[in-house]
Amino acid sequence: MDRIDLRSMEYERLKAWVREEGLPAFRADQLFSWMHEKLVSSFDEMSNIPKDLKERLKQNCTLNALEIRRVQTSKADGTKKYLFSLEDGNLIESVMMRYKHGNSVCVSSQVGCAMGCSFCASTLNGCIRNLHTSEILGQVYAIQKDIGERVSNVVIMGMGEPLVNYENVMAFVRILSDEKALHVSQRNITISTCGIVPAIDRLSQESLKVTLALSLHAPNDRIRRQIMPVAKKYSMDEILSACDRYFESTGRRVTFEYCLIDGINDKPEHARELASRLKGRNAHVNLIPVNPTPENDYGAAAEKDIRRFLEILEEEGIQATRRREMGRDIDGACGQLRYKEEHADV
Ligand code: SAH
Repeated sequence: MDRIDLRSMEYERLKAWVREEGLPAFRADQLFSWMHEKLVSSFDEMSNIPKDLKERLKQNCTLNALEIRRVQTSKADGTKKYLFSLEDGNLIESVMMRYKHGNSVCVSSQVGCAMGCSFCASTLNGCIRNLHTSEILGQVYAIQKDIGERVSNVVIMGMGEPLVNYENVMAFVRILSDEKALHVSQRNITISTCGIVPAIDRLSQESLKVTLALSLHAPNDRIRRQIMPVAKKYSMDEILSACDRYFESTGRRVTFEYCLIDGINDKPEHARELASRLKGRNAHVNLIPVNPTPENDYGAAAEKDIRRFLEILEEEGIQATRRREMGRDIDGACGQLRYKEEHADV
């Protein structure tokens, strides 16, 4: 029988479980605090839980704590890339970046990914499974403990498509932002998606304050379909309308991610077309030169093309920034470290 995944339970769910188990109500507060505030990785550390209850928990439940398998630290900017192993032996990765405004962690939402974007290493072996809420939380918890500092920002931009693992990702956001847990502000949590329209509409109705990042990467459907299979399912018009609805219902400005790939989407005519599509929207474009992986032959856009692209967007009145590239020397992009680890013998 599968053990009960206690750390995936939101507070109200945990309270109900404690009641069903015939335990006093205050145990829910104690357990929640141990799991989500003190960030323990074993039941043994829960010092105010009686011994017999601890034994019962150990037998029937799991905390799904992650084990750090490897850490790479960038000499250039202090970015740390973590490879974790899960209880079933699967590997996932996360990244910690230090900014002036605080420590930001990039978490994975699935083991692998099924979306098939041609520039992305996460998708090379397909999607193995969704991560449990506890395993997404566990990445933040393990990193906060490792660095001994507070994590103030979380982006769900690691391996996987978060809106395919919808329920677990929502519970992750709610627990992470719970004032009885780490209380990370929802405004500092970003969900990044390749553009699954019905799920964006569902997200609009959640009354959350999270930032939505849309991985656009192209100025039109023709180029988008060339690099992102999901674009065959949802057109850019449908996606942009869903983003408009997200903005209307949450008041949160949508970020459009655009990775610049040499010769594919990085020329002045692409910038102008992108600007015309985004005009009049409360949008922000994040430009990032593609991080080349050995498994595809894409090259990062040339410096002069990146600068020109940004200039054109600004001339057209589109807010845009160039994302600081971090961790390039440590396989910083999605899925690169795990892929390397699993193919170490090739
Ligand atoms: N599936 C989600 C979240 C994970 S990917 C999504 O598509 O948004 C997080 C971001 O990294 C996406 O914008 C993705 O397109 C981008 N990305 C993936 N591989 C990259 C690479 N090699 N170089 C630059 N950006 C990359």
